Amino acid sequence: MTAGCLFIISAPSGTGKTSVIKELLKKDDQIKLSVSYTSRPRRQVEVDGRDYYFVSEERFKQMQVQGEFLESAEVYGNWYGTSQKWIKAAMDSGQDVLLEIDCQGAAQIRSFFPDAVGIFILPPSSKMQEERLVARDQDHEDVINRRLAAAREEVSHVNEFDYVIINDKLETAVNNLACIINAERLRTKPQMEKYQTLIAQLT
Ligand code: 5GP
Repeated sequence: MTAGCLFIISAPSGTGKTSVIKELLKKDDQIKLSVSYTSRPRRQVEVDGRDYYFVSEERFKQMQVQGEFLESAEVYGNWYGTSQKWIKAAMDSGQDVLLEIDCQGAAQIRSFFPDAVGIFILPPSSKMQEERLVARDQDHEDVINRRLAAAREEVSHVNEFDYVIINDKLETAVNNLACIINAERLRTKPQMEKYQTLIAQLT
């Protein structure tokens, strides 16, 4: 079985990355999004098990100690983590996997999976970023301000990623993401693994 490709998407808050990913998943049924665990309170629009697995901070810490996370990090005052078991099962079955995680998590993943492809999404301007956060209207004002301050730190890690997408027009951003994913799938290494029988026949 050929191992799947692993894609990491990071972006500062207010970039609209969730919308970009949602649209991509509609177009590409070969890729699966990892559902993270979080100690953050659930927003009204969110569904447990679809957007996140919402757990108490106590449970999260317990899972950390038990080694259930491939990576975990404290972001904007809450804990987030990627299920070790789910990623292993998905990758072993040849599934392409998308992780929507922060820069700290991305760095941890790169240390286990050096071939993981990092994609950073940026808003077109700081004004637009703030407008998107306020328009979402799902967080208190102090949370929004904390997220905006932390976003600057997050952007300082942009050079650690392989690709950068500007989310100005949603459709363009989604197409750019799809292009990156397709190009990575066509790299010689995964293609040689996938088509080893054909290549053997032809050589
Ligand atoms: P939000 O609370 O807005 O859903 O997410 C806050 C931040 O946590 C975002 O930057 C998001 O990418 C990040 N995040 C979500 N899930 C994970 C995870 O499993 N691990 C890490 N390290 N960050 C995550």
